[in-house]
Amino acid sequence: MKQIPVARPTLGEEEAVAARRAILSGWVIQGPEVEAFEREFAALVGAPHAVACSSGTAALHLALKALDLGIGDEVITVSHSFIATANAVRYVGATPVFVDVEYSTGNMDPGLLAPAITPKTRAILAVHQLGMPCDLGRIIPLARDHGLWVVEDAACATGSEISLESGGWEIIGKPRGDLATFSFHPRKVLTTGDGGMVTGRDSEVMARMARLRTHAMSLSTAERHQTRGVVFEAYPEVGFNYRLSDIQGAVGREQLKRLPGLIEARRRLAARYLEALASHPYLDLPQEPSYGRSNWQSFWIILKENSPKDQVGLMEALQARGIQTRRGVMCAHREPAYKDFPLRHPLMVSEGLQDRSIILPLYPELAEEDLDRIVSSLWEIVK
Ligand SMILES: *Cc1c(COP(=O)(O)O)cnc(C)c1O
Repeated sequence: MKQIPVARPTLGEEEAVAARRAILSGWVIQGPEVEAFEREFAALVGAPHAVACSSGTAALHLALKALDLGIGDEVITVSHSFIATANAVRYVGATPVFVDVEYSTGNMDPGLLAPAITPKTRAILAVHQLGMPCDLGRIIPLARDHGLWVVEDAACATGSEISLESGGWEIIGKPRGDLATFSFHPRKVLTTGDGGMVTGRDSEVMARMARLRTHAMSLSTAERHQTRGVVFEAYPEVGFNYRLSDIQGAVGREQLKRLPGLIEARRRLAARYLEALASHPYLDLPQEPSYGRSNWQSFWIILKENSPKDQVGLMEALQARGIQTRRGVMCAHREPAYKDFPLRHPLMVSEGLQDRSIILPLYPELAEEDLDRIVSSLWEIVK
């Protein structure tokens, strides 16, 4: 029986050639390829600046650190996300304050933000979950009214689009808030193995992030390389080693060229799922909001309360047919690592989605007949 994986990166000869070019260039860590990758990524999303780093998690950490968030500060975010979102808040010593999400998008419910704001609130960390755009049109004005930073966790959202003031579609990452962070893990839409990016508008904040990713060193490696005299670097604050390699930068540049085709394929497949499952009596489906177009980094289904099959039962039955799935998005607040962060606000929708949603296979090379086999299995198993 043919096995269908839940995800699969699209990597080919072009990426292999690019990696070879970087390897043979004699410069393998954060150099010209990473610089070009940053420039090309910034141009794609329409951002004035982009800083590459070693992962989406590192990107979040750098972003929160560069905004000077720390001990005593509160950051409003969602528990319903990969644990990296909440963990990044804790890396800087700040306190994550969780609000619930909307059922049909899986994203932060903007109506719940105002009651979650306290005198200690400094920022909103809004996730575009699984590539589905969150409601920045409501989140950003509220944040501005209260003097809060907005950081977009766009780890999954490379190529997703949003329509705000302009009325037209624009790729996420300009950013609309203060900073946006991306991941290039193989489960995401573009991959460099591991890798991440932060985009932003404020050149000082961006320059600080660029220093923080290399131990906050006052001179970049390139600057030291270019100077003729003897110069010594300084370390004005505690930074990190969050560099991206030039091998990964070269791969990322090839991935960027593929993006339009990858998104087109994902959207075509998601539309096929949506149409074929629309009338299923026991399944609810994700819904794109009027202001957003997903890149469909993942496609999920939600088992209704009256479904005769539960989440584990359905996942096992699909596995038995060679179809790999994943549980829906986790909730950080239910993990032992979060036992010291008592909930201030109910998270019923988040918990319901964790317990009743399932991520189905979706990747650009998924064959339509395989997708149709998954769909017919869902009709046969859940009845
Ligand atoms: C994947 C992901 C991250 C972390 O990205 P890594 O590159 O794996 O470190 C952060 N936030 C969200 C929402 C993610 O999906």
